[in-house]
Amino acid sequence: MKSSRTLLAAATLTLAGTASFAQAANEVNIYSYRQAFLIQPLLEEFSKETGIQVNLVTGDKGLLERLEHEGRNSPADILLTAEVGPLYDATQKGLVSAVQSDVLNESIPQHYRDPEGRWFGLTARSRIIYASKDRVQDGEIKTYEELADPKWKGRICTRSGKHTYNLSLIASMIAHHDEAYAEQWLEDLKANLARKPQGNDRAQVKAVKEGVCDLALGNSYYFGKMLTNEEQPEQKEWAQSVNLVFPNQDDRGAHMNISGAAVTQHAPNRDNAIKLIEFLAAEKAQKIYAEVNSEFPVRPGTPNSALIEEYMGNFKGDEISLSELGPLRATASRLVDKVGFDN
Ligand code: FE
Repeated sequence: MKSSRTLLAAATLTLAGTASFAQAANEVNIYSYRQAFLIQPLLEEFSKETGIQVNLVTGDKGLLERLEHEGRNSPADILLTAEVGPLYDATQKGLVSAVQSDVLNESIPQHYRDPEGRWFGLTARSRIIYASKDRVQDGEIKTYEELADPKWKGRICTRSGKHTYNLSLIASMIAHHDEAYAEQWLEDLKANLARKPQGNDRAQVKAVKEGVCDLALGNSYYFGKMLTNEEQPEQKEWAQSVNLVFPNQDDRGAHMNISGAAVTQHAPNRDNAIKLIEFLAAEKAQKIYAEVNSEFPVRPGTPNSALIEEYMGNFKGDEISLSELGPLRATASRLVDKVGFDN
């Protein structure tokens, strides 16, 4: 008896679900770790061009957990993230699905997407070294490896080693050297820190401006956000106090990461989801999407913003596949604990 009642309930649910999906045929639902202002204008443009309504849920954290908790009943079609880490985690948890799209495969370089099509990079950024204009000479630091040199003792600032941005960078050190090398590097880098890891990326550049440290690790787009910050004009001074160092230009290139998208495992509007991601990878959207956050378009041949052209010009980015770094992030996290990086 009990089981048949359950079955009936399940059947009713399915019917109700089918009805609501049919009503909602021309929409697409996004769970986004990215802030609304970064994508809203593009979503409006997409709706105008296609007639597909876009519903956006944004959040700083917990969206992956929400997706997991909702399971089959989740309304989410697309997961939008500000880093490759959550995309990789979503893949591991089976929360996203493979997409075979020639459009996406041709628009997005291989190293910025999952080889199985479970996530796609849409904008790119580099994790660079911000160097004091006053206290660091041009060319004095050229590589991530050199951050471990004792000459920088007490002169480097960074946010927590456990932050997803740093985990990807450490994962790349493991990938390009090995675990033992990365551990030693991390230990030596820790010994060079001016203070216990704290604050966000911008807070490190502020610390350089204030003379707390001479070098800081930070994502490249924060430079643009600080330099043009009318609401907090003091940030312009932070940006003006540093030179941007894109590391490892003579070998593998500067560490790169992405913001990106994935189609969820149970997307009720799967076709619309793919259409939207393809729209975001097209040249017109690429230019706008990258420009609004001072990032780099992933699509080859898309022009950079004027600010990027002026301050970041041409640099060599590491082309190691981000899918290769995914599995190394857990090791990176363990190393951060092991050397007591954040203590
Ligand atoms: Fe960020």
